[in-house]
Amino acid sequence: MKTVDSFDFAGKKVLLRVDFNVPLDNKYNVADDTRIRAALSTINKILNDQGAVILMSHLGRPTNGPTDKCSLRHIVDHLSDLLKKPVQFADDCIGESAQSAADNLKNGEVLLLENLRFHKEEEKGNEDFAKKLAGLGNFYVNDAFGTAHRAHASTAIIAKFFPNNKCFGYVMDGELRSVNKLMNGAEKPFTAILGGAKVSDKILILEQLINKADNIIIGGGMAFTFIKAQGGKIGKSLVEDDRLETALKILADAKKKGVKIYLPEDVVVADNFSNDANVQTCEINNIPEGWMGLDVGAKTEKKKDEVIAQSKTILWNGPMGVFEMSKFEHGTKTAAFSIAKATKNGAYTLIGGGDSVAAINKYKLANEVSYVSTGGGALLEYIESGSLPGVEAILK
Ligand code: AMP
Repeated sequence: MKTVDSFDFAGKKVLLRVDFNVPLDNKYNVADDTRIRAALSTINKILNDQGAVILMSHLGRPTNGPTDKCSLRHIVDHLSDLLKKPVQFADDCIGESAQSAADNLKNGEVLLLENLRFHKEEEKGNEDFAKKLAGLGNFYVNDAFGTAHRAHASTAIIAKFFPNNKCFGYVMDGELRSVNKLMNGAEKPFTAILGGAKVSDKILILEQLINKADNIIIGGGMAFTFIKAQGGKIGKSLVEDDRLETALKILADAKKKGVKIYLPEDVVVADNFSNDANVQTCEINNIPEGWMGLDVGAKTEKKKDEVIAQSKTILWNGPMGVFEMSKFEHGTKTAAFSIAKATKNGAYTLIGGGDSVAAINKYKLANEVSYVSTGGGALLEYIESGSLPGVEAILK
């Protein structure tokens, strides 16, 4: 894989696609700068080589042209503080202002372009728009893993204008290495822990994991569709009745391939979806009428911990329960701590997908696992299909 390490950027004007889609507070200050920090090493590599950096990103979901709320101008000062140097800003990503700012940019300087999604052509993958962006620089680097599953103008289409002058940044490289380690040549036993709300979101990933993993632990709301499909009583727990057949097929396929699927054995149930609800623990197959399962029970946790402790490779996607509420966070919390412990004992552990990342951060364990993926949708799609438009565009 070609990364920025393969090139010397002296005298180059590098168009660098980053993911600066960060949350802003109500005063438009950056509320969480994780994604900006993640891009710093790629930016600094180019600057240290005495190249110039033209940063392209989207922010939020503007649907109808420019809005102040989605302006990347709000992050200029924060980025400048992190880089310890001035950051120039062009109030459009194409056109005269962008072109003259790019033309005047000197080696060692940084220019941030306004939100790409202020032009609807970005998400449409419009080639003329991509060509205009491409005209601003003479080298293309993609470091935006979070949008690599989209064939947008700046993430994929633009690459064709740089047949020999394109590569991955460090964020992309780290993400691809970590997921490739898992999907091609994971050390065994390989355990996938899947949770979260819906089976329908996880069918494709389950189908892939059945070909790779030794154990699949299923928790969270998605477990109840499997339990109901096998004839269990689930009360008013979350269920997708149109996926019962699919659930049975997944269980049958796993059995055929010798993959062990661990469904919860017991469950913490509540009489309503609230932290003030009455709770009790019961067998997963026998949830009383009117009660819903919101977390895995102690027996399930113990079993889960044993499997995790014996694993050499672990993928975690999706919480084991409604971890946002303290009464139902126990299963997710113990999963997070068991994964951290397994890491300490030599397992390779990858945490991916929005809510499991939120959980690992909530318990301050991000530095105690092998890799925390920044791209939820992109990571899942890469596992599902083995490629992404933003990755293919660089490799072509
Ligand atoms: P996902 O985006 O599919 O990973 O789902 C994450 C969401 O699933 C979180 O907001 C959890 O609160 C929710 N969740 C986990 N377990 C349950 C459950 N047993 N019942 C309802 N929602 C759940």
